[in-house]
Amino acid sequence: MMYDVIIIGSGPAGISASLYTARANLKTLVIGLESSLAKSRLVDNYYGFKDGISGYELLQNGWRQAEKFKAQIIEDEVIALEYDFKGVYTVKTKDSSYNSRSVLLSAGSEGKKAPIKDIEKFEGKGVHYCTTCDGYFYRGKKVGILGYSEYALNELNEMKHFTDNITLLTDHNELTIDPQDTRVETKKIYRFEGGEYLDDVVFEDGTTEKYDGIFVAFGKASSIDFARKLG
Ligand SMILES: Cc1cc2nc3c(=O)[nH]c(=O)nc-3n(C[C@H](O)[C@H](O)[C@H](O)COP(=O)(O)OP(=O)(O)OC[C@H]3O[C@@H](n4cnc5c(N)ncnc54)[C@H](O)[C@@H]3O)c2cc1C
Repeated sequence: MMYDVIIIGSGPAGISASLYTARANLKTLVIGLESSLAKSRLVDNYYGFKDGISGYELLQNGWRQAEKFKAQIIEDEVIALEYDFKGVYTVKTKDSSYNSRSVLLSAGSEGKKAPIKDIEKFEGKGVHYCTTCDGYFYRGKKVGILGYSEYALNELNEMKHFTDNITLLTDHNELTIDPQDTRVETKKIYRFEGGEYLDDVVFEDGTTEKYDGIFVAFGKASSIDFARKLG
């Protein structure tokens, strides 16, 4: 079967795109795995949701909306993208392969993972990646910004709108910015601890410190690998 468009990524960007392609009567296939938004407990900043909505529910709504317009959505991992230079793209997944006249990449961007034990366990539950999205929930609370570069400085300055109680946690990386009057903790972090939510940062020297929230602001890597491979 030949699709008019295959969209790689079933997060908000991919599904939004599919609403337009499917409604334009283009035969549309969306291929993706879990979106990072699924980890958001409460999305508070979208127009039209006065009580907020969980990331999972927002995604489910988007999927149903796209399927209503006959976009086909499958959960699979794309492992290769090829072009025959005659107008046909082949998208290879773990389970199958699909042909299309066009491909749209909306595979998100993966924040560089901080090499800290149990960090995933607390994502969306005390560990966050976006001060604009989640900083509001930490008004007046004790927050750590995990980073050491310009990106961390940006998140630090954003966070100052919400709380004065901020520590820059460098995880023993060399600081490449001037954090001015912000407290800096340079110790290497061993792990994050808590129950359902983050409670403590445990350092390699055995000391611990309580935090309400940690915002990860290590360098960002974009997932444009497929595009690069096409030349
Ligand atoms: C914990 C957390 C909380 C957040 N809270 C908020 C919030 O409150 N408000 C807000 O505005 N934003 C929030 N965000 C940010 C929001 O999730 C992102 O801005 C949004 O998801 C980006 O959408 P996207 O479609 O570009 O990418 P993503 O949602 O990341 O989607 C990328 C898609 O590409 C797929 N993909 C990638 N590689 C492959 C592959 N090889 N094969 C198949 N599929 C692939 C993924 O599986 C996924 O379906 C939060 C993020 C996190 C992590």
